[in-house]
Formats: sequence, structure tokens, C-alpha cells
Amino acid sequence: MDNTTLKSLLHEYEQKRINANLKVENYKKEIYSKYPHLQEIEDKINILSINKINLILSSNFSEIKKIDTELNKLKLEKKGLLKKVNISEKDLQPFFECNICKDTGYTNENNKSVMCNCLKQKIFDIEYNKSNIGNVENENFSSFSLKYYSNEVNPEKFGLNISPRENIKKIKEISENFINNFDNPNEKNLLFTGNTGLRKNISLQLHSI
Ligand SMILES: [Zn+2]
Repeated sequence: MDNTTLKSLLHEYEQKRINANLKVENYKKEIYSKYPHLQEIEDKINILSINKINLILSSNFSEIKKIDTELNKLKLEKKGLLKKVNISEKDLQPFFECNICKDTGYTNENNKSVMCNCLKQKIFDIEYNKSNIGNVENENFSSFSLKYYSNEVNPEKFGLNISPRENIKKIKEISENFINNFDNPNEKNLLFTGNTGLRKNISLQLHSI
């Protein structure tokens, strides 16, 4: 995978987060203008939450308890009000396509930032399409035809001592054998080569390495 794929995917993720946050902010504005009391509660919750962080930093535990009681009261009031006007609390939160990484592409595992499966899948899809393996439904061994390969034996023309048809038949057999033995750890890799200037599909040579 080249770096540009990851860069453009991360840019796409950033855009998704920006859009999700913007959407919820607009929705909140609309709701708060309709129900100003909801905005008041939200503002109080925000101020108390900031105060709580300061108290945590100064280890003022008795005051933290008081703030927690106040916060719980406000959250309950907000919940009740939302229910009354038939608004789901979920709708006031940004909607992310991936709940695991919140569309950041990364999650935390044992205090380490690791790539989320959603991002891995996207990279895989891009690389898979690049490899043309995506055409496997149409281009496979059962649709393979020998008729495109000449029966002529002409080493000068094809760079082969046998006809291109005989050659490709052998290559097909070796390839099928390779696939059937793919799980075998002793199975060797395949290297496809061909002379420069000659079309690889005609002058193709196959080596087990
Ligand atoms: Zn994710």
C-alpha cells in the first residue's frame, strides 16, 4: 500500500467527522431555539463539567461530590425535557459510521493506538481493486480459453521452443496446481517472466521459486 492511499482515506475520515459534528450542531441550534430552557440546562452542564475538571486537578473531593449531585440533577432534567418534546438523546450526539473508532480510523488497544478494522477494510478494498482480482467472477480458469494462443511453433517470433498454446496450457496446469496446494507450506512461489518487447501473455514463462 502506498502512503497516498492512507493519506486520502484519513482525509475522508476527517471530513466525515467534521460533517457529523456540523450536522449535530445545526440540529442542536434548531432544537435550542425552539426550547430555550434546554439550552440553559446544557450551558449549566458545560460550566459544571469544566468546574469539575478544575476540582479534580486540585483534588478537592468534597466539592466534586457536590458538583456531581448537581450534574446528575441537571442531566435528569434534560432527559425528562427531551422525552417530553419527543427528542432522542442519540440525535444530539454526532452520528459516526464506525462506533468503535468514531471515524478516526484508530482505536486504543492496551494503551497503543492501532488501526481500526473499518480503515483496514477500506485499504483492503482499494488494494483489491487495484490488483484486478475484483474481475475474478468473469476472468477465471473456467472462462479461460486457449483459442487466443497460436498453435505455431516459432522461437524467433515468440521466444519459445513450443507453441504459445502449449506454453499457456502448461502454465495453466502449474497455476491450478499452485492454487490447489496453496495451504501446503512446502509449495513454492511462482514467478512470471517474459522477454522484453514480447507480450507477456504470449511469451510467458513460469518458474517455481
Ligand atoms: Zn473504525
